[in-house]
Amino acid sequence: MTLNNNIPAFNWTEWYEGVGGRTINIPDVERIMGEIRNKQAQRFNGPVSSQKKIFNSSKEAAKHIKSKAKEFGADLVGICEIESSDLYEGKTTNEKYAISIGGKMLYTSFTNVPSNQSAIECVEVYHRLGEVVINLANYIRSLGYTCEVEHPVGDSNLLHIPVALKAGLGELGRHGSIINPELGPLFRLGSVTTSIPMEIDQPIDAGIAAFCDNCKACRIYCPADAIPDERDRFGKKDHLGNYLYRVDTGKCFPYFAKHEYCSACLPTCVYNHKDWATDFEGNKVKKYPHVIMETPPKPFDGVSTEKRHNYPKFNRDNPKQYLPRKKK
Ligand code: SF4
Ligand code: SF4
Repeated sequence: MTLNNNIPAFNWTEWYEGVGGRTINIPDVERIMGEIRNKQAQRFNGPVSSQKKIFNSSKEAAKHIKSKAKEFGADLVGICEIESSDLYEGKTTNEKYAISIGGKMLYTSFTNVPSNQSAIECVEVYHRLGEVVINLANYIRSLGYTCEVEHPVGDSNLLHIPVALKAGLGELGRHGSIINPELGPLFRLGSVTTSIPMEIDQPIDAGIAAFCDNCKACRIYCPADAIPDERDRFGKKDHLGNYLYRVDTGKCFPYFAKHEYCSACLPTCVYNHKDWATDFEGNKVKKYPHVIMETPPKPFDGVSTEKRHNYPKFNRDNPKQYLPRKKK
């Protein structure tokens, strides 16, 4: 089977075998994935109108395309120029720009993770985003411009995350997913590439990466222990000059493939809760408290067992836990 411009379909079976096998078996997930493979993939290409719409400026073109993307159902949209580092190895594109599109997932589907409900929401958003990118691509062709659909499910030329970062959709969190200041981390990405001259967006600095340096909620709740304590000082840097947090996918993927796509790091991310901060009268208050993290005192277990609660003794064999924290 081939998909976009004769690119061979991503071999999910082989990929899952490579991470130790997949045991997810949820009828709704199979049905939706079947629709993506058998119905959406057939609609990736289409005729380009011979009449080209000329925009007055690149700013006007960007505004128009973004507003159409929203009309088709995009929750987030940004534009950037494509560089070779944004492409999967061995892939190419003739187009100059990427329109990066985010589709949000419902927090209420992730109140138990991993679960059938969270797995279904993950593939449903791929389907919804698939419709957005297909409809936007058809629209761009109707304006007389070529374009390519970069579907959110593994058959694209583009690496969606670097493109979305450049297009200003958010910052990279400790958990390896993008966090948007308004939507948090519960969204997925698709893209359309085209060469309509458009004004590009810029990467953002909303303080998210810096916040991650003082927060470990996702790391604590990662069941596979795949999220790091520290940034990888031997790896790449993000657009703000920070070394990346690199998730141990050798631990994550085998877990993910056997536990309903896991996703625990997304709903546990505190950025889901930033906009809930209102007081009891409903007034907006500071979005998140600043938590002062001083060195904890040494544990004390001297209260007799009849007089104290039961509690687990986390990491008591790790003396490093009680070293003074580094001052920021
Ligand atoms: S998907 Fe699950 S296993 Fe993977 S990093 Fe997130 S929490 Fe950890
Ligand atoms: S839970 Fe905290 S550390 Fe993890 S990505 Fe979200 S903000 Fe960053």
